[in-house]
Amino acid sequence: MAEQREVLVVVGATGAQGGGIARAALADGRYQVRAVTRKPKSDKAQALRAAGAEIVAADLDDVESLVKAFSGAQRAFFVTNYWELYSPERELQQAQNLAEAARRAGLQHVVWSTLEDTRTQVPLDDEARYPTLMGKYKVPHFDAKGEADQFFIERDVPTTFLRASFYFDNFVYFGSGPKRGADGVLELILPMGDKVMPGVAAEDIGGVAYGILRRGPELIGQTVGVAGEHLTGKQYAEKMGKALGEEVRYAPVTPAQFRAFGFPGADDLGNMFQYYQDFERELSEVRSVERSRQLYPQLQSFDQWLEKYASQMPIEQAV
Ligand code: NAP
Repeated sequence: MAEQREVLVVVGATGAQGGGIARAALADGRYQVRAVTRKPKSDKAQALRAAGAEIVAADLDDVESLVKAFSGAQRAFFVTNYWELYSPERELQQAQNLAEAARRAGLQHVVWSTLEDTRTQVPLDDEARYPTLMGKYKVPHFDAKGEADQFFIERDVPTTFLRASFYFDNFVYFGSGPKRGADGVLELILPMGDKVMPGVAAEDIGGVAYGILRRGPELIGQTVGVAGEHLTGKQYAEKMGKALGEEVRYAPVTPAQFRAFGFPGADDLGNMFQYYQDFERELSEVRSVERSRQLYPQLQSFDQWLEKYASQMPIEQAV
């Protein structure tokens, strides 16, 4: 009789990070992959089923549904989606539900996709450089995840804390791609000054998460950062230009100018870029490219990512 494989539960399997770990695990075949979604009939869920995953319905807002979805599993990858919520309180509640369900289901190893709680480094009364947002946050989509780490620690859930980086994919899907300036030259608008910003192909975050779980208990309790490359704004622009066959000029703006763009989340992201600049060394140190590649040898550099996706970057007119 075939040996029973361990079950790896993937939250967010129909998304970018979770999709990355689901595909890496399915390709490897060591675990039975259980994909969690609110929409088991969606095309993305059906594609995962066709690739060999088990599909289970659950909602991060419903802890009982998570306990059921985790039942009988040993390992898991967890991610929450701030950009659907725009609410750190709801993200905190969802992360708490994940930690509680992991405890109740007795999971043996969880990788939690998290970020820094910037308030441990930026005093709340530093209003000049970082306006306080939503009452008590500096970078709400970072702070809630970092604060949520505690839920896993308090419950003794065997967890590896995976610090994600800026997705290269934001240049395609998140409005961060190059814009055509008034003089007709493409511009990459980023509030990074001359500082380095770690970036990564979103799917490789899942790949590194898979590498962590494959290591076994060794990385439980540790924080592991993930990055495919550390580049300055100028370097991002130059590489983009080479891939597009057309000059892309780096057009740095200040974080304050970025916040003033005024789209939903612009203030949160403006503060995030300020934080990336001010804590360049700390953020880069924890997000080692070398370690990421050891954990996931297929890790892509920005050039490799551009080869696949440069043609998909929507080119808009600068406003
Ligand atoms: P994504 O591609 O937008 O997909 C979101 C996933 O979450 C989907 O699989 C969705 O599943 C699932 N999901 C959302 N709400 C759920 C709920 N209530 N119950 C069950 N599943 C739910 O997301 P992603 O890009 O992988 O991850 C988003 C997170 O990455 C954000 O929190 C963001 O802060 C963080 N992040 C982003 C960046 C960046 O540069 N963009 C960098 C670092 C970290 P269904 O819809 O199928 O139910």
